[in-house]
Amino acid sequence: MAYVISDSCVACGTCAPLCPVEAISEGDIYKIDPDTCISCGTCAESCPSEAIHEE
Ligand code: SF4
Repeated sequence: MAYVISDSCVACGTCAPLCPVEAISEGDIYKIDPDTCISCGTCAESCPSEAIHEE
C-alpha cells in the first residue's frame, strides 16, 4: 500500500526532501512512485495542504 498525492497539492515542496526512499518527484503536482514508497507516512504528516493519503 503506497501513499498518493491528490489534486490538493500546491507543489510547495515540503514533502519530497523528507522521504527516506526518495519516492516523491516534483511537478505541477508532486507524485509518489508506488513501487518505491514504503508507506512510512512521513510525507503525509508534513503536508500543509493535507494532500497526501494512504491509497
Ligand atoms: Fe516517502 Fe514515506 Fe511518503 Fe512513501 S509514505 S512517499 S516512503 S515519505
